Amino acid sequence: AGEAASAGVFWRRAALNRQRVENAVSLMGELDAAIAAGHIEVHYQPKLALATDRIASVEALVRWRHPDHGFVSPGAFIPLAEQTDRIGPLTLHVLAQVIADAAQWRACGHEVTAAVNISAKLLDSPAFIAAVDKLLDSAPIAPDGLIFEVTESAAMSDPATATATLRHFRNRGVAISMDDYGTGQSTLSYLRELPLSELKIDRSFVQYAHERESDAKLVCSTIELAHALGLKVVAEGIEDAENLAFLRSVSCDYAQGYFIDRPMPFDALVRRLNDRIESGRLAVQLG
Ligand code: C2E
Ligand code: MG
Ligand code: MG
Ligand code: MG
Repeated sequence: AGEAASAGVFWRRAALNRQRVENAVSLMGELDAAIAAGHIEVHYQPKLALATDRIASVEALVRWRHPDHGFVSPGAFIPLAEQTDRIGPLTLHVLAQVIADAAQWRACGHEVTAAVNISAKLLDSPAFIAAVDKLLDSAPIAPDGLIFEVTESAAMSDPATATATLRHFRNRGVAISMDDYGTGQSTLSYLRELPLSELKIDRSFVQYAHERESDAKLVCSTIELAHALGLKVVAEGIEDAENLAFLRSVSCDYAQGYFIDRPMPFDALVRRLNDRIESGRLAVQLG
């Protein structure tokens, strides 16, 4: 009887897994159509420069407005896209949109750089690299208006190729940022080899740094290490005023998080950038 029960559990699980796989496969089948239909949007989340209280750059975060499933979070479909080789077309679509949007906010006088998340998987794809080069060649903005955010990841299956690719883009003027720093692996060798301009300390270390001694030490020593290597530091996931005050006090360069701004559509971003010029930088200082 026990055996029959466990067989039942097995088959139910198998059916659930199959359904999950089928859902995932059909979702990926829809991705190209979603891109064509304009259901893939790019939202922007500011990174605040703490020395000046200005928005120095914005991170592009992809959003899928699915007509049936509603909003599908990137946490759900990016990993799928990576597994099914749809991540290349998706990233190129995002990058093209970001370049067009950045050209517009620059035309309004906002010197704000745009950060795009690039999956480590793509760094050894010659087709992807060639397509990015083509976009950069015809872009109405200079490459130094862009940042590529990459994670220190096992997906860098071939670190030498990934490094060469990042050097190529760095040589073109694109800044390279190490995302989710502290959660990956081999951090020291990546710090030595990759042509980085910036480290983004992962939210999990930042969030309690103002109230947890050990997190504070990790954040401070990371900032010191980064500065010693000539890198700028971004703290991600700032959710309250105490946390922001702490990061100011330890000479962090940039801060990003819900307390400063949530990711927002392009129109809202442009309004935000315009407002900041008017009302100055007081709002955040008071916060
Ligand atoms: P990420 O690059 O580390 O992006 C930061 C994520 O944290 C975003 O979630 C952002 O909305 C969220 N976040 C920002 N501030 C706060 C905060 O104060 N508190 C909390 N709890 N969360 C905050 P999102 O937009 O869901 O993106 C999740 C991940 O999906 C990103 O992590 C990135 O790895 C990936 N992703 C998003 N867009 C793209 C893309 O265009 N291409 C690729 N390859 N990956 C992307
Ligand atoms: Mg990122
Ligand atoms: Mg991050
Ligand atoms: Mg993250």
